Amino acid sequence: MLDTASLIKILAQPQKIVITTHHKPDGDAMGSSLGLYNYLIQQGHHVKVVTPTDYPDFLAWLPGNGEVIIYTENVEQSAGLIADADLIFCLDFNALNRINEMGELVAESTAVKVMIDHHLEPQDFDDYRYWDINACATAQLIYTFITEELDNAKLINKDVATCLYTGIMTDSKSFSLPNTTSDVHRIIAGLMDAGAVNWHIYDQVYNNSSENRLRFLGICLSEKLEVLHDFNTAIITANKEDLHKYEVITGDTEGIVNYALSVTGIKLAAFIVERPDKVKLSLRSKGEFPANDICKKYFNGGGHRNAAGGIYEGTLEQAVNQFKSILPEYKKLLIQ
Ligand code: 5GP
Ligand code: MN
Repeated sequence: MLDTASLIKILAQPQKIVITTHHKPDGDAMGSSLGLYNYLIQQGHHVKVVTPTDYPDFLAWLPGNGEVIIYTENVEQSAGLIADADLIFCLDFNALNRINEMGELVAESTAVKVMIDHHLEPQDFDDYRYWDINACATAQLIYTFITEELDNAKLINKDVATCLYTGIMTDSKSFSLPNTTSDVHRIIAGLMDAGAVNWHIYDQVYNNSSENRLRFLGICLSEKLEVLHDFNTAIITANKEDLHKYEVITGDTEGIVNYALSVTGIKLAAFIVERPDKVKLSLRSKGEFPANDICKKYFNGGGHRNAAGGIYEGTLEQAVNQFKSILPEYKKLLIQ
């Protein structure tokens, strides 16, 4: 493992840098990546953000977005950049399977690998690690990495601040989760002082739905919500036909699970969606209930205690039955 002084030494010279993040990047993944991008380009580095897949349109306004390379749409170029890189920053993930086929390319690359992340149980593939599970967002860690580790607060300009604000706002559910500490609010104040415009960022991210997306949400709530009162659990499902009818695209399903969690008394919520090759589950929970435990044990996934995800190889109906069948094991925690 490198220490911070050695990393600072490397970054003192212009380097070829790739920044990457988990597949289907969310607000924190893109906010962290482009926040760090906008910081590093000020120092003369040659920087590329390479995402494993596409990401939601409501993030496409972020400063620097035009420079992002999507791996699945530019395989050769991405592979070349990864192979040639001096440094690879791995943000908001800590296991190489979270970046799909890019994982092998990153593993094979001789670049110095820097992990900045807030997920549990990091895999050992990195040379430098800035990791804290108590951080509410990786964007929070990018902020303290720049301001404290690199001691370069003066380079937090409007673009950096806008990206990092977006990451913190989205991962903290608009500053509503328990890990939104007073330190986080002080960081947010710092980002606003550096030029982040809070109301504008909120508007871009949350008031930016297509008509189809809103109508799809409508049927999820009116027809697809199932409340299992005996287990304080709520499920929303979406099948292929629903996705087709409402022309659902990347990002359209984000946040739907939170509506299930907002039913009074609900401790565990699941959004279960039929994707072309598998079934994807998004779980959210309240308090001590370990949603990540269910994903890890039964759905080949993981995540945080209150926000986790996984997959199921089979039909949507089987996935829902599997999910329901494991609830008795957790009944005590769910009804206490
Ligand atoms: P989402 O429900 O938004 O897809 O994911 C919620 C959280 O669970 C995110 O923090 C994400 O990193 C994590 N997560 C989602 N899917 C997976 C997965 O397949 N494996 C692991 N390890 N984590 C996941
Ligand atoms: Mn995150």
